[in-house]
Amino acid sequence: MSDRIVLATHNAHKVEEFHAIVATVRPDLEVVGYDGPEPIEDGITFRENALIKARAAAAHTGLPALADDSGICVDALGGAPGAFSAYWAGHRKDAAANTALLLDQLSDIADPRRTAQFVSVIALVDGDTEHVVEGVWPGRLATEAAGAGGFGYDPVFIPDEQPDPARTVAEFSAAEKNAASHRARAFAALTDLLRSL
Ligand code: IMP
Repeated sequence: MSDRIVLATHNAHKVEEFHAIVATVRPDLEVVGYDGPEPIEDGITFRENALIKARAAAAHTGLPALADDSGICVDALGGAPGAFSAYWAGHRKDAAANTALLLDQLSDIADPRRTAQFVSVIALVDGDTEHVVEGVWPGRLATEAAGAGGFGYDPVFIPDEQPDPARTVAEFSAAEKNAASHRARAFAALTDLLRSL
């Protein structure tokens, strides 16, 4: 692999996270930002969209490229919103409207059938070689939004494996979320992958 890797995201927070993870495992790799043309994300799975973004950045720069895609999957909805999480209630990408719609759709469904997962998929494209890793954070949908932290669906997602009383991710500290989240789990898998390359 070359000594530079391009990161196909404009999200400053994600760029920082990726920098940190790559530096820990592969200090020889320089992570550079991507400012080339944005591909149309017309995949219907996280995997497809992560690969679309990584392939576009790799093709445009000639460098190995990393890209991620993430969202929430609700079992009672057959895995939706999934890759449509960002604009579940419309293309204005309104997080409050997205969560309100999801709660409304599940309003007749009681525990234990409110199970859901946050999912993060990271693709690494290097020439003809493609790798995909995934992180899954299992939990369930709350019946109403709670908490002021985080973003997106955090106020309505209650992870499993946490001390009583059960809280939504929006009630977690940032450090607590970063240690346990789907992204943390995908990063752990990426760490293993980068080590093996
Ligand atoms: P993207 O991967 O940045 O495109 O995120 C897709 C969408 O998934 C976001 O707009 C959120 O709605 C949702 N999402 C992804 N990760 C999280 C998270 O950690 N908390 C809450 N919502 C998330």
